[in-house]
Amino acid sequence: MTVHFPFQNSYSELPDSFFARVAPTPVAAPRLIKLNRPLAVQLGLDPDLLETAEGAEILAGKTVPAGADPIAMAYAGHQFGQFVPQLGDGRAILLGEVIDTNGVRRDIQLKGSGPTPFSRRGDGRAALGPVLREYIVSEAMFALGIPTTRSLAAVVTGEPVIRETALPGAVLTRVASSHIRVGTFQFFAVRRDTDAIRRLADHVISRHYPDLLHADRPYHALLAGVVARQAELIARWLLVGFIHGVMNTDNSSISGETIDYGPCAFMDAYNPAQVFSSIDETGRYAYANQPRVALWNLTRLAECLLPLFGEEQEKAVEQAQEILGAFPETFSKAYQAGLRRKVGVFSEADGDEALIQDLLDAMAKNQADFTLTFRKLGDAAGDEAAVADVRAQFMDPSAFDDWARRWRERTALEPQSAAERQAAMHAVNPVFIPRNHRVEAVIQAAVNDDNYAPFEELVKVLAKPYEEQPEYAAYADPPLPDQRVLQTFCGT
Ligand code: AMP
Ligand code: MG
Ligand code: MG
Repeated sequence: MTVHFPFQNSYSELPDSFFARVAPTPVAAPRLIKLNRPLAVQLGLDPDLLETAEGAEILAGKTVPAGADPIAMAYAGHQFGQFVPQLGDGRAILLGEVIDTNGVRRDIQLKGSGPTPFSRRGDGRAALGPVLREYIVSEAMFALGIPTTRSLAAVVTGEPVIRETALPGAVLTRVASSHIRVGTFQFFAVRRDTDAIRRLADHVISRHYPDLLHADRPYHALLAGVVARQAELIARWLLVGFIHGVMNTDNSSISGETIDYGPCAFMDAYNPAQVFSSIDETGRYAYANQPRVALWNLTRLAECLLPLFGEEQEKAVEQAQEILGAFPETFSKAYQAGLRRKVGVFSEADGDEALIQDLLDAMAKNQADFTLTFRKLGDAAGDEAAVADVRAQFMDPSAFDDWARRWRERTALEPQSAAERQAAMHAVNPVFIPRNHRVEAVIQAAVNDDNYAPFEELVKVLAKPYEEQPEYAAYADPPLPDQRVLQTFCGT
């Protein structure tokens, strides 16, 4: 039996300027270290066959499966605000697309599969650590219910990659509803290739926004659609304490998925100014800046789409501004609604926003753990005695007491029972997030000791983030002072 990928490629049918045809570079000794079996099934792939030696060769880029049309996608992008007219897949190769069992078109991409015409300085490879990090965090995001690319597999290549030291090389198989980015539009905009922008926009509409196919002004509607999805996505990030870390326009997906997990991290203690990435020296991509940055990125997208608006420049700009103007409200609506759910408030009343902000302010002041404070608040909604666990999150526990009294008064106005409130809160406040110190420990065990048991266990726990798993309770704990990870590094 041979592994069959039911490819139905569409991106590689677009004009040649959209990509470079390039095959993955074979590697010495591929070894499969993780296969996401449920995802394989969803993609119409046979997980047993993927676990054979031939499967590992495909997932390492050593063998190209039948029907693949391997390409490196062209894109540009603003990196920390600096425009780079050509980036592109420098270490990733799109094998092709499959239609999954839900009828959704999905990209299958190898990341770390060797050089492409877009690799400028890099070797086109990925180190094991960042591959495991992306696997863990992307799958955790999926389990949390947040739109994201997925991880189908991780293989080690049997070849070292040279970074500051020699590290084991690895390849991640990434699955996305597409890899089209704001930077993909920028690539053609900077070349003033309006035909290509139109081709790309039409491809995106039929693929990601099919409802807009017959809109009066489809390109205006496309911009509005991306604005809405990004606003909702960023709200979801904030509601779980996620910090992307490198929100460059080339890492900003048109489909509204979280993409390109590099120095990303979840915060432990709530701190709106939190930054983990070692290269984010000015805090451009700090936790609370993410909505602002998303809007900045969307403004870059709008600039690319202006030539399609069919208007005089001035009028087109005005229309784009109006569409972008919806971002703050869409974001704020999603974020506030999410916060109300987190504190178990079912209805909407004046003063809710201030009430919740006061909790967040007290959390920030008292270095309260973001995840545990909300989870324990859910416990307290059903059981007064659990209030002690919420208080314990605050450096000065009395900082919680006044707020708790106001919260009880507010929730007492609602008809829901304590049990209903608790269940609703537990459904949105995770117990388990991929805490930095856990992710680091797992990577160290794999890289230093070739031990993947900790990785397996972490992935398993994070697959059910909203369920108490008493035997794994320690995974919910924040780091001890000496376990704290202060910085994360770019995944190269
Ligand atoms: P990223 O920081 O992952 O968003 O990547 C930014 C750009 O650098 C993209 O064009 C990548 O393809 C490229 N790049 C990152 N790492 C490597 C590498 N090891 N080899 C070649 N290109 C790379
Ligand atoms: Mg990127
Ligand atoms: Mg990348």
